[in-house]
Amino acid sequence: MNIGIDAGGTLIKVACLKHGSLEFKKFPISQLEYVASWICGFDTAKICITGGKAALLKSSLNQEAAEIVEFEATCNGVRYLLAKNAISEDKFILTNVGTGTSIHHVDNSRQQRIGGTGVGGGTIMGLSQLLTGITDYEAIVALAVKGLRDRIDLKVSHIYAGAEPPIPGDLTASNFGNILPLVSTDQLTKEELLASVTGLVGETVATVSVLAAGQCGVSSIIFIGSSFIGNDLLKEVVQNYTKLRGALPLFIENGEYCGAIGALLYY
Ligand code: ADP
Repeated sequence: MNIGIDAGGTLIKVACLKHGSLEFKKFPISQLEYVASWICGFDTAKICITGGKAALLKSSLNQEAAEIVEFEATCNGVRYLLAKNAISEDKFILTNVGTGTSIHHVDNSRQQRIGGTGVGGGTIMGLSQLLTGITDYEAIVALAVKGLRDRIDLKVSHIYAGAEPPIPGDLTASNFGNILPLVSTDQLTKEELLASVTGLVGETVATVSVLAAGQCGVSSIIFIGSSFIGNDLLKEVVQNYTKLRGALPLFIENGEYCGAIGALLYY
């Protein structure tokens, strides 16, 4: 059996290849010791680890494990999933929306990390907690999808009210920029606040990715990362905003496991 592990800032993603079939599991990073003892049960497995917490996890194992650089693993995992899904993209921007966001230019077999932003899934968790007190991921996602952003976010069309704007009126002029006219922010619901947090993150991630695509002369952007797990609102914001800004967004099934798959492919 081959096991690939991507130990990130928030989640540990595991890909196992057994008798030709691929299985996936994820654990919160707080369960690192548990994951180490679970892995120790597979004493004959070939193990490769990647991610920011790879060295820490490796030090908790009592068997041999290889370690590879996260960006290389992620890109190899993306290529594997593209081939498996018969998607023929070979030049694209790869945006990994994890705890933070990392942006890569992939051109056939070459990949280069071209930047990133600290705005990512961790921002959704942190700002949501600050604004609503909610810390559970599923609860945040479930409430955000029910919220409207009109009373919190300022659109270009709000500013140009009655006049023709020089850029699409649906673009956000200022995330959270519409709050000032409100009599009291107590009026805002948790749903509205969480929808606006999701909007801020999705639009930032889409915008930096589209700029990166322009800089690299490509039009397709592949979005991966656990921030999209069960989060259709984030997907929708990213998808619409990427299209609105002239690029082609793509999401791949199990994209959050690219790092773990890339680690698994090491052997
Ligand atoms: P990393 O590799 O940095 O751990 P991930 O790609 O795993 O990053 O993405 C982490 C993000 O995924 C979190 O910040 C959160 O937005 C989202 N997420 C998805 N599922 C969960 C979960 N069960 N618990 C916490 N965060 C989750």
